[in-house]
Amino acid sequence: MATIKTLDDLFLDTLKDIYFAEKQILKALPKMARAAQSEEGKAGFLQHRDETQGQIERLEQVFEIIGKSARGKTCEAIQGIISEGEEIMEEFKGSPALDAGLISSAQAVEHYEIARYGTLIAWADQLGHTDAVALLQANLEEEEATDQKLTQLAKAQANAKGKIKAV
Ligand code: FE
Ligand code: FE
Ligand code: FE
Repeated sequence: MATIKTLDDLFLDTLKDIYFAEKQILKALPKMARAAQSEEGKAGFLQHRDETQGQIERLEQVFEIIGKSARGKTCEAIQGIISEGEEIMEEFKGSPALDAGLISSAQAVEHYEIARYGTLIAWADQLGHTDAVALLQANLEEEEATDQKLTQLAKAQANAKGKIKAV
């Protein structure tokens, strides 16, 4: 007989998914900082790396709240998004459009995280895990703020710089 799975199972699975994703992102951000041409871009990626460390700790608290051990579950989506970012780093190395490409990759990461946290907050609320809601909400707010900063960075300089052709 098939196991009957509930919203608790779905919540745990998705928590493991974002936990795995955050750990991958933690490793990817210093590489993006190294690759970025602008100082603002570098500083932004490093700042979000530090925030990501804190997000992982909040997720560990959420695992504790639901009485489960903190364990990741392979997220192929984040692996794919990060691979695309690495492709841009290689293919646009030394090019004026590099930073615009890095920002676009970083925004794909943030949007994946925003989607996951939005869902997890709704489910934690439904399941009555009030303390988990607050922790997940704190992570969501950092992802949203990062997404907005990336938009500003792209509009303020990276996109325009990307149009310049070498003569
Ligand atoms: Fe994150
Ligand atoms: Fe995933
Ligand atoms: Fe993020």
